[in-house]
Amino acid sequence: MPERIQVLRTEIAAAAASAGRSVSDITLLAVSKAQPAEAVRTACAAGLTDFGESYLNEALGKLAALEDLPLTWHFIGRLQANKTRPIAERFQWVHGVDRLHIAERLAQQRPVHAPALNICLQVNLAGESSKGGVSPAELPALAAAVAALSRLRLRGLMCIPPPQSDPAGQRAWFAQLRQLRDGLNAAGAALDTLSMGMSADFPNAIREGSTIVRIGTALFGARPPSA
Ligand SMILES: *Cc1c(COP(=O)(O)O)cnc(C)c1O
Repeated sequence: MPERIQVLRTEIAAAAASAGRSVSDITLLAVSKAQPAEAVRTACAAGLTDFGESYLNEALGKLAALEDLPLTWHFIGRLQANKTRPIAERFQWVHGVDRLHIAERLAQQRPVHAPALNICLQVNLAGESSKGGVSPAELPALAAAVAALSRLRLRGLMCIPPPQSDPAGQRAWFAQLRQLRDGLNAAGAALDTLSMGMSADFPNAIREGSTIVRIGTALFGARPPSA
């Protein structure tokens, strides 16, 4: 896996250079869902600091097993209102917030002594019913309401666009998310994060301004089929 990390870092640097961007503005978020704690340990030893999990029960076991490591944990899965508390207590980032009720619960449940919980709003760009995310039309109102909650820090937007093999098609989705972010900032928001790009499309996400690429299979290999 250290070799894969090296390859990924080279690809991230090449994509950043092709867009005239600095690699220091791009975080490689290692998506460790369905991977054992030992794989996270190895990735950490190879220099990675940020890890993403999608399934709460699995994640909590892993977080407990890795408490000795100075890691930043991101929850990137679907959020259920009755399961927000452990996320508010144990994670530093949540990427899939798409409704105010969930954000309010996270805000109420974030421990007062902890730093503010970093939030990305998930946007459903293609209106896919199989995926979560707020619609672009409803985004401004949700962003304003979430930004007003204490204990949370609204950082930016996240998307999972429909799979697309052609590079221009990939870029078009990512450009849409960037434009939504720019529109909110022009209206007074201060969003510094675009969480976009996965194993199959991260170079084009970087060309469109991604600041966090969420990468699983290109880093850890294929996930076990049960996951
Ligand atoms: C699983 C997952 C990823 C990583 O996907 P890969 O294709 O394995 O890189 C990224 N983001 C989210 C939200 C995921 O659920």
